Amino acid sequence: MKSIQKPIVIVGAGFAGMTLALNLKNLNSSLPILVVDSESNFIFKPLMYEVLSKEIRSWEATPKFANIFSDAGITFLKNCLTKIYFKENILEFSDKLKLSYQYLVICTGSIPNSFTIKGVDENCYFFNDFGDLNKLESFLKKIQKTSFHKNLFIVGGGPSGIELACKIKDIFIDQFEINVIEKSNEILHRNKIFNREQAEKALEKRKINIILNSTVKEVSETKICIVNEFGITSLDKDIVIWTAGVKPNLSYLETNEITKRFGRILVNNNLQIENYKNCFAIGDISIIEGMEDLPITAQVAMQEGNHLAKNLELLIQGKDPLPFEFQDNGEMISLGIGEASISGLGVTLSGKLAFEARRLIYTSKLPNITESLKSASSWIFQKKSFFKKFFKKDNSI
Ligand SMILES: Cc1cc2nc3c(=O)[nH]c(=O)nc-3n(C[C@H](O)[C@H](O)[C@H](O)COP(=O)(O)OP(=O)(O)OC[C@H]3O[C@@H](n4cnc5c(N)ncnc54)[C@H](O)[C@@H]3O)c2cc1C
Repeated sequence: MKSIQKPIVIVGAGFAGMTLALNLKNLNSSLPILVVDSESNFIFKPLMYEVLSKEIRSWEATPKFANIFSDAGITFLKNCLTKIYFKENILEFSDKLKLSYQYLVICTGSIPNSFTIKGVDENCYFFNDFGDLNKLESFLKKIQKTSFHKNLFIVGGGPSGIELACKIKDIFIDQFEINVIEKSNEILHRNKIFNREQAEKALEKRKINIILNSTVKEVSETKICIVNEFGITSLDKDIVIWTAGVKPNLSYLETNEITKRFGRILVNNNLQIENYKNCFAIGDISIIEGMEDLPITAQVAMQEGNHLAKNLELLIQGKDPLPFEFQDNGEMISLGIGEASISGLGVTLSGKLAFEARRLIYTSKLPNITESLKSASSWIFQKKSFFKKFFKKDNSI
């Protein structure tokens, strides 16, 4: 068996980095793997809506990296990457620590994209991590006490916007007049038809307004200004939640240092960065040449992490890496408290059953991270046999 001198460094331990590290360790337990993340806890982002609605507790969706990695025999370092010296194979961190690597994998995820629209950064709430969730929750609680029917706008009719709209309506009932603004002519336009139809029903049932074919021009302290075929309209707002898009989290890269496409790091189909064959980028920060249409999801990030683990093992053995292929295993969206919609692998399911299946599938995703979830949500597991159909190891929805 061949060995390597310096470690394989994985920066970012989200869905992509976590899957990669755990799978690589499973394939070859003797490899020196170092995982670095700027945070102490993993965030299971698809369950953030359930944390907001108190259907699960926050600690259940945020297991500690230190526990996950020490259980797996992987070294974890909490630090923030600030610079990569690609030619020298050296990383620099916020405390000026320098580390050299044999192989580098960057997977630092994404952050909200305000598209430089005036007032968005200053006057909108976001929903991308637990900091955003806590800020949003305290603001919603604070203003709900003042009076009924506050004007709440959610910008973006993608999964995040729709899931959030349904949850907030169910949590706060009639406290908010909820409006979803979407620039295209339908909500969830990149999602499965079945899920879109279920979402439309869920929104209608909750009397959530959908404003289609409209773009946001500006957000001020008191108004949101939208443009559509009828012209420019300025509406009173109490709160705007911005879910209109994300951009890669690449603050440690210098402009033009490596090739990008649509702002994301361009990799070949082996997930390698052009010109630096020992460096890889996976998850939300990267885009694969020839596969530009892949969605920016945890499902893709996990499949890339899984694939790269096999490729790294091949490379270390002196063999050729294999091209990545995406397998669409379907998608799940939550639609209010206790409801969801699932479409994939020839199965469609909605309502309460879909909600339970969704939670069950998520708790089964990464066995090593979900020990806490498993113990806390044992009721779900009592129903495991019922949902066998959805249970394949790689059913990464
Ligand atoms: C509310 C919400 C709900 C979602 N629901 C779904 C869903 O139902 N299904 C689905 O498939 N996808 C969903 N997604 C998308 C999914 O979460 C992302 O596509 C996925 O997290 C991407 O994985 P990643 O590993 O690329 O990034 P992330 O999971 O975001 O992980 C990035 C990691 O990098 C770390 N990091 C960042 N910068 C640095 C740095 N400079 N140094 C060190 N560490 C750093 C971060 O702390 C983080 O741990 C959802 C996203 C959100 C926000």
